[in-house]
Amino acid sequence: MTQTLADKVKARRTFAIISHPDAGKTTITEQLLLYGGAIRQAGTVKGKKSGKFAKSDWMEIEKQRGISVTSSVMQVDYDGKQINILDTPGHEDFSEDTYRTLMAVDSAVMVIDSGKGIEPQTKKLFKVCSMRGIPIFTFINKLDRDGREPMDLIAELEEVLGIDAYPMNWPMGMGKNLLGLYDIYNNRVELTHPEENEDNDFLPLNEDGEIEGDYQVTRSTIYTQAVEDVQLLKEAGNDFSEEAIAAGKLTPVFFGSALTGFGVQTFLDAFVDFAPSPSEHVTESGETIEPTDENFSGFIFKIQANMNPAHRDRIAFVRICSGEFRPGMDVFVNRTGKKIKLAHTTQFMADTREQVQTAVAGDIIGLYDTGNFQIGDTIYEGKKGLQFEALPQFTPELFMKVTPKNVMKQKSFHKGVQQLVQEGAIQLYKTYHTEDYILGAVGQLQFEVFQYRLLHEYNAEVEMAPMGSKIARWIDPEDLDPNMSSSRNLLCRDRFGNPVFLFENQFAMRWFEDKYPDVKLTALL
Ligand code: GDP
Repeated sequence: MTQTLADKVKARRTFAIISHPDAGKTTITEQLLLYGGAIRQAGTVKGKKSGKFAKSDWMEIEKQRGISVTSSVMQVDYDGKQINILDTPGHEDFSEDTYRTLMAVDSAVMVIDSGKGIEPQTKKLFKVCSMRGIPIFTFINKLDRDGREPMDLIAELEEVLGIDAYPMNWPMGMGKNLLGLYDIYNNRVELTHPEENEDNDFLPLNEDGEIEGDYQVTRSTIYTQAVEDVQLLKEAGNDFSEEAIAAGKLTPVFFGSALTGFGVQTFLDAFVDFAPSPSEHVTESGETIEPTDENFSGFIFKIQANMNPAHRDRIAFVRICSGEFRPGMDVFVNRTGKKIKLAHTTQFMADTREQVQTAVAGDIIGLYDTGNFQIGDTIYEGKKGLQFEALPQFTPELFMKVTPKNVMKQKSFHKGVQQLVQEGAIQLYKTYHTEDYILGAVGQLQFEVFQYRLLHEYNAEVEMAPMGSKIARWIDPEDLDPNMSSSRNLLCRDRFGNPVFLFENQFAMRWFEDKYPDVKLTALL
C-alpha cells in the first residue's frame, strides 16, 4: 500500500527531551531508541559523561563528529509512527542553539529527577516550550530510588512552572519498595514484580479502582495507600483534557525509571497517541502553510560548521514544514532568491548517516552547505516566495571583549568571527566609538567553544577579556543621545547596527530608567 503525504505526516512525532543535567535525558533517549529498535543495546548513544560538560568533551565530540551529528537528530519507528527526537544539550552550556532547536519540534518531553524536582534548567527550557504553546509531557524519573513524595512533586510542578498537571499513573512505593505503577489512564496496575503476582505484568482494575482478587501486591499497605492517593487525585485533581494537553496548558505526568526501563513503554505508548503530528506554520506575511501542502518548504534552525575538518563543510539543519523532500530537487532560498539543487550533498541525520531517500513535513534533514544558508532561512519549492516567521533571539547574559592575538592574522580573525556569528554560535557587539568587539552569550561554554574553533578552524588565536554578566537592553535609535552613556553602562551596536546598552546591574538599569523615563528599554527573549 502506498502512503499518501497526509498519511506520512500524520505518523510523524517530532519532539525534544528537555531536562536539567543528570535528570536522565540520555538514559531515557537510549530506552526510546531501544524500543524503536534503532540500537541493539542501551548505552550506545553517547559516551557516558562524568561531571560537567567541559571544553575537553567538546573537543572529544569534535574528534568524533559522526557521533555528535547523528545524535543531534534521531529517528526511530515505533508502533507505526515515525519518531524524530531532537537532542538539546542539557548541559550548562545553555546556548541559543538549544532554544532554537525547540522551535523545530512539535512537542517536548520534560524529564524530572524524582529526588530533585524542578531544577533551574528545566525551568528555562520549559519557558521556551510554553511560550510556543506546544504540548509538554512529563516523565518523573528515577523511581527505583527513594525520591520525594509524588504529591509534592506534582504540586511543585504546578506552582513553579505554572502548568496544570494530570498524573497518568501513580507510583506504588518507591526505591526498594517500588511495587509498581497504578496506571490511571490504562485502568490497570503495572507490576515491578510479576513473579510475585502469578506472573502478571499487569492487573486490571475494577469499577472501584481496585485489583480484583488476592495477590501479593494487594496485601500491601503501599498498594492501599496508592489507591487512596488516586482517589484523592480523582476528586480534587485536574480533569483529563485532550484539548488542554494539545494547547500546552495541561501536562500529562508519567512516573518511571529510565535506568531499569520500568514505565518507559507505558509512557511511550501514551506519548505516541497524544503527541501531535506536525501542524501548520505561519509565514511572515501571515499565510498558513499546511504540512500536507504538496510544495516542499522548511526553515533552517541550526548550522553546524566544519563537521568534517578535512572538508571545511557545514551542515544546515532543516525542519521540513510542508511537502516532501526528494533527492535532487530544486529549492529557493528566500533571503537570497538563489536556486539550489538538493542533490547527493544531502544527508539524513538518522541513527546511521544515510542518504535521505524521502523525508516529509515534520522530519529534519541536514544539508551540506557551502555558504548558501543562514539560521532562520526559509527554503521552498514552487513559484511563490515564502518566509517563515523569524526565530527568536535570546538576550545574552555574559560578555567578553575579544581581540586577535596576532595583528598579522586580522583577516582570518574577522572571517572566523563573522562566520561563527552567522552560525548563531555567539552574538557580536561593537562599542560605539572604539568599535571594540564584544561577544555575548547565554552560557560560558559558548565562549570556550568559540575560542577553540577560531583557533582550530580559522587559525586565529584570540585574547578574551571577561566582562562578567551584564544586562543587555536595546533602545530605539531615535531615542539615542550620546550623553546616555555612563560609567555604569556600555553603549554598543549589535550586528545589525542597532544601539544596545550593556548595564552593569539592575541598579544601573533602574537609574537609567529613572533618568530617561520616556526611553523604552527592550530585551530580546
Ligand atoms: P542527562 O544528563 O539528563 O542526560 O542524564 P543521564 O541520562 O546521563 O543520567 C544521569 C545519571 O543518572 C546517570 O548516572 C544515570 O545512570 C542515572 N539515571 C538515569 N536514569 C535513572 C533512573 O531511572 N534511576 C537511577 N537510579 N538512575 C538513573
